[in-house]
Amino acid sequence: KTEFKGKHVLVLGLAKSGFAAAKLLQKMGAYVTVNDKKSTDDSPEVKELLNLDIEVITGGHPESLMDRHFDIVVKNPGIPYSNLILQRAMEKKIPIITEVEIAYLISDADIIGITGSNGKTTTTTLIYEILKTAAKSPLIAGNIGTVACEVASKAKKEEVIVMELSSFQLMGTNMFKPKISVLLNIFNAHLDYHGTKEAYAQAKANIFKNQNEKDFAVVNADDSFVMEIAKNIKATLVPFSLKQLLENGTCIKDGTIYFKGEPIIHTADIVLPGKHNLENILAAISAVKLYGASNEAINKVLTTFTGVEHRLQYVETIQGRKFYNDSKATNILATQKAIDAFSEPTILLAGGLDRGNSFDELIPSLKKLKGIITFGQTAEKILDAAKKAGLHLMKHVDNLEQAVKLAYDLSDEGDVILLSPACASWDQFKTFEERGDMFVNLVHKLKVD
Ligand code: ADP
Repeated sequence: KTEFKGKHVLVLGLAKSGFAAAKLLQKMGAYVTVNDKKSTDDSPEVKELLNLDIEVITGGHPESLMDRHFDIVVKNPGIPYSNLILQRAMEKKIPIITEVEIAYLISDADIIGITGSNGKTTTTTLIYEILKTAAKSPLIAGNIGTVACEVASKAKKEEVIVMELSSFQLMGTNMFKPKISVLLNIFNAHLDYHGTKEAYAQAKANIFKNQNEKDFAVVNADDSFVMEIAKNIKATLVPFSLKQLLENGTCIKDGTIYFKGEPIIHTADIVLPGKHNLENILAAISAVKLYGASNEAINKVLTTFTGVEHRLQYVETIQGRKFYNDSKATNILATQKAIDAFSEPTILLAGGLDRGNSFDELIPSLKKLKGIITFGQTAEKILDAAKKAGLHLMKHVDNLEQAVKLAYDLSDEGDVILLSPACASWDQFKTFEERGDMFVNLVHKLKVD
């Protein structure tokens, strides 16, 4: 779609995506200059670029750079258009693109793009797994693991790229066009970055901007903000809903999921717990059916898929107690969803980094619990909320190891033991992944002990 060979390209911003884009464009025969505000001259990334004969300018964005000739500017989504280099580029009518856009421009493979405030990784993984089972040659890209343009550079025409897209990545895209786009939901999250809900929604709406009637837009009919955006798009709408019956979309009737009137699977046969996951599943079914996946492939995946790691992931059952790892739940909303996902008596393990907020909002959900064990910086605060919720089984321990042991000792057959901390992990762990991995190991160890 766009030839980069022989072009002079300026890559602004040397984050992971800029780094990948610079290397790729150079490999494709472009003359690449990289510019970053920070002085990172002795970083391994800069050294690698210099070794590849890529020009690197760091320590500021000198406006004079634009006195030179560039055909294209590739910008990191985080750099505002008020940046003087970008201002000059716009005056000179030089196209400004982003890394995901390169992915679109260099590949003939179809793209299925997934965005939303919550559920992106789960839905992206489900679509990928089902298409793989259906032998549709999918590739996975985006937030999960590999950078989109790297995946696209290797994609064959007959393959399909399943791409998780953050609102950050969708900012400033001009030509990007997925064959199928999925918008899951829009919550008030991330407002600190985008400023207003409108600006955030605008970034999300970019996923539909270049689609036409031959393309598809899978949208959550239960989310009024999503449907507001959907009014203005040209793609063929395929709505999904947990609440309404939909002839043109995906819905649930008497415990069966239907796609355009065709029965697909019984909800009772689905392994993944939680109403929110059912939304992700409806979205995924819509996308894969549009892409021609068989019901057999859908059934095979949904009856075995236990969840993406650290996202309400089923760990194992020990002496009748089911353990779930939801370490990714780093805020109150996510923990509410997790608690709501279970009808069994549940013991919650929560706590972590203290951001100064109160946990009173969690009280209605805490009321549903059998018990709670808290740890980390927020242990006391969450315990206070649990007291207000009237819980009797409440304990405060020093760390996750003690929490897992105690939860097991205090539990009965038939209970769920759920790690869903409602807090970031950085008080006691490097990442939420490290916290989740430790939980899974501690659970497996219970069996050995
Ligand atoms: P993302 O990639 O958008 O962060 P994930 O699939 O990683 O989403 O899920 C992160 C957390 O968000 C989950 O642990 C769950 O608590 C919550 N979540 C997932 N899907 C939804 C949804 N459809 N609606 C609301 N919350 C959700």
